[in-house]
Amino acid sequence: MNLILLGAPGVGKGTQAKLVMEKFNIPQISTGDILRSEIKENSELGQRVKSLLEKGTLVPDEIILEIVEKRLFKPDCFRGFILDGFPRTIHQAEGLEQILEKMHISNLKVIEIYVQEEAIIERLTNRRICSNCGKDYNLLLNSPPPNNTCIICNGKIIQRDDDKVDTIRKRLLVYRRETEPLISYYKKRNKFYRVNGLQEVDVVFEEIEKIIT
Ligand code: AMP
Repeated sequence: MNLILLGAPGVGKGTQAKLVMEKFNIPQISTGDILRSEIKENSELGQRVKSLLEKGTLVPDEIILEIVEKRLFKPDCFRGFILDGFPRTIHQAEGLEQILEKMHISNLKVIEIYVQEEAIIERLTNRRICSNCGKDYNLLLNSPPPNNTCIICNGKIIQRDDDKVDTIRKRLLVYRRETEPLISYYKKRNKFYRVNGLQEVDVVFEEIEKIIT
C-alpha cells in the first residue's frame, strides 16, 4: 500500500500516519521529521534549512525531492509507505510521479484529512512535542506530564517554534497557496479521498482503513 496523507498543518496527519504504520507495518515518511532531525544534528543540510522551518516557509523542492528519493529506495519501503507532509507543491507531486515510475509503483492513494482553519489554530497552539523522540502531546486533551518530561523517553517536552500563532497563520497561507492545488491534481488522477479530521482519532483511522483496505 502506498499512501499520501494530505492536509494542512495540525490536522492530525502525523498521528494517523503512525497508526497506519503500526497496523500495516509500513514506514511513515515525514519530510518535516527528517528536516528537524537534520537540524538537531546540525548537519550541512540542517544548517541550510533551519531558518526556513522557523519562518514556516517551504524548503526548496529540489532538496525535498532528493531526500524523498533517497528514503523511498531503502528496502523497508518496498512493501509500501505513508508519505506525511510530502508532496507540498505541484512540482513535488510531479517529481514523486517520476520516482514512483522508477520504482514501478502505480497504485497510490491520496487521503486528505480536512479540518477548518480556526480549529487548526486552536489545536496547534496547544500542541507540544518531545524534543527527543517527537511524540505529540495535545494540551486540549490532557494536562502535560509531570515536569514536562516525555512518558516514552524522558525527553523534554517543548513547543515547536513554528507552532506559535503568527507562524501558524503563515504556514496555513503557504498550505492554501502551494499545497491545496494538489487536491485537484490528484482528483483528476482518480486517486483522491477525503476524511473529516474533526472526528475522534479512532474514527478518522477507521475511515482511513476502509479506504486503504
Ligand atoms: P511539518 O512537520 O510537515 O509541518 O513540516 C515543518 C516544516 O518543514 C514546514 O513548514 C516546511 O518548512 C518544511 N517542510 C516539511 N516538508 C516539506 C515539503 N514537502 N516541502 C517543503 N518544505 C517542507
